[in-house]
Amino acid sequence: MNEKACRECHLISYKPVCPRCKATSLSDDFTGLVIIINPERSAIAQAMKVKEKGRYALRVR
Ligand SMILES: [Zn+2]
Repeated sequence: MNEKACRECHLISYKPVCPRCKATSLSDDFTGLVIIINPERSAIAQAMKVKEKGRYALRVR
């Protein structure tokens, strides 16, 4: 099973529904993988408006 990235919040998961924002608009066509461990301290997390740790795609098509 392929990993998919949420088009809404860019969270990567194996699930058919995004576990973070419950969106069903997921895509397996994404580039870049960012692992956010400490959202409060991560400049990337702030730029992406990510507030929870997890794995996120940089770009989702
Ligand atoms: Zn989402």
